[in-house]
Formats: sequence, structure tokens, C-alpha cells
Amino acid sequence: MEELLRRAEKLRTVGQLAAGVAHEIRNPLTTLRGFLQLQQRTGNVNETHTDIMLSELERINMIVSEFLILAKPQAVQFETRDVRYTVGDVISLLDSEAHLHNIEFEHHFSSSPLLVHCEENQLKQVFINVLKNAMEAMPGGGKIILQVSEEGDHKVAIRVIDQGEGISEERLEKLGEPFYTSKEKGTGLGLMVSQRIIEGHKGMFEIDSELGKGTIVTITLPQITEAHEEAATPTTGEIA
Ligand code: ADP
Ligand code: MG
Repeated sequence: MEELLRRAEKLRTVGQLAAGVAHEIRNPLTTLRGFLQLQQRTGNVNETHTDIMLSELERINMIVSEFLILAKPQAVQFETRDVRYTVGDVISLLDSEAHLHNIEFEHHFSSSPLLVHCEENQLKQVFINVLKNAMEAMPGGGKIILQVSEEGDHKVAIRVIDQGEGISEERLEKLGEPFYTSKEKGTGLGLMVSQRIIEGHKGMFEIDSELGKGTIVTITLPQITEAHEEAATPTTGEIA
């Protein structure tokens, strides 16, 4: 029953989003058609136009990829995981890119296991989205702090703290609306997809920010306590 409800909710979300995606994709497609028609008429290949066409194609590609994460009819399988390893895996994944941009990850992980019931790939997707946003907010480099800790009342908190540009109050209100982006090459889908995934895990997704100072993203998930611990599946990978 719960599964049925989840699927119904998912279909509804996907339906609402499909209209938005269609709209967002039509603009770059119109540009592409315009330049191709021009090329056909003049018989000239213009380098600047080709660059624009390629970047419009890339934009379509990015929108479709992010959308697929939600829409893909993947079998969602929840397992018990130590979320320290999940975050650790994502840090390893992004480490070299961070290095390239003079960004350093500093992590503070609880020394005891922090078990959560999750679809690990979806959670990884959330952490990748949040960390990428943090990195993109720090074009000049700097430090990103990651905290994974137990928090009151059987909860696990994952915090990503950046020293980036921050978000103004009026922009903060718009966050999570599909296609709201302040980036030239953004899709404005990352936060919305992340919030949906965390909702699906009965967790909370919060953003605190101060313009010019930085942003703190806090994700809280229900903790699986010791009574259930033997049900935990061993995780692979290392804590970063
Ligand atoms: P995208 O990254 O493609 O723009 P997101 O949904 O991931 O889309 O983010 C939406 C917007 O939220 C971003 O364009 C940016 O303005 C703002 N934002 C998100 N995270 C941060 C952050 N850590 N620092 C500053 N702004 C952020
Ligand atoms: Mg993003």
C-alpha cells in the first residue's frame, strides 16, 4: 500500500514536472532550429553559432539527466546503511574536482555508526547536488565543512557548510522551485530533486544562508537505533 502511494505521488510529481521540462527544452530547441535554418539558407557554418548550438544542446542534456533521476522507474529498494560511508563515498567522488577549484573538504564524522534506512544511490545524488552547489558558490576556492552526527531524538544530521557567496532572503524563498537558478548554466532542478528524495526518506532538508558569508544545508534523517542494528547490511567503501 505504501509502495502504491509512493508511486502515485511520484507519478503526480513527474506529471507536473513534465510540463515544465517541455517548456524549458523548447527554448534551446528553438535556438537550435533557428541557427540550423540560417546555416541551410546561407550555406555557411559560423563558429560562434556552432558554439551556441553546442551549449544549448548541453543544456538540454543536463535538464534531461536531472529529470531522469526522478522519472526513471527504478526499483526503489531501501536498505540500512551507515550514512558516514555514503557521505564518504561522495567526498571521494568529488575530491579531485574540488582540488581543481582550490576547494578543501574538512569532515567531522561521528566515531560511532549512524544507521539510516535509505535508497543509497538516491542519497548519494542528494549529497552530490548539495556539495556541487557549495562548490559552485565558491569560485575563488575555500573550505567546505561536512558534519555527520547524531542529533537528539533518534536523528542523524548531515551538514554541509560553505563559505560561498550566500543567498539573499528573497532568493531563499524561491529555492526548490523547479527551474529557479542564478547560474548561466544551471538547471534549477538539483534542490527540488534533493528535497523530494529527502521527503521520501521521511527526513528534512533545510537551508540557512547569509549573503556574502556562506550557506549551511542541513539534512536530517530518522536514525535506526541499536535494537535494529543487526539488520544492517555491511557497507562497502571507506570513510573519507
Ligand atoms: P542549479 O545549481 O542548477 O542552479 P539548484 O536547484 O541546485 O540548481 O540550485 C538553485 C539555486 O539555489 C542556485 O542557482 C543558487 O542560486 C542557489 N544555491 C543553492 N545552493 C547554494 C549555495 N550553497 N550557495 C549559494 N547559492 C546556492
Ligand atoms: Mg545545483
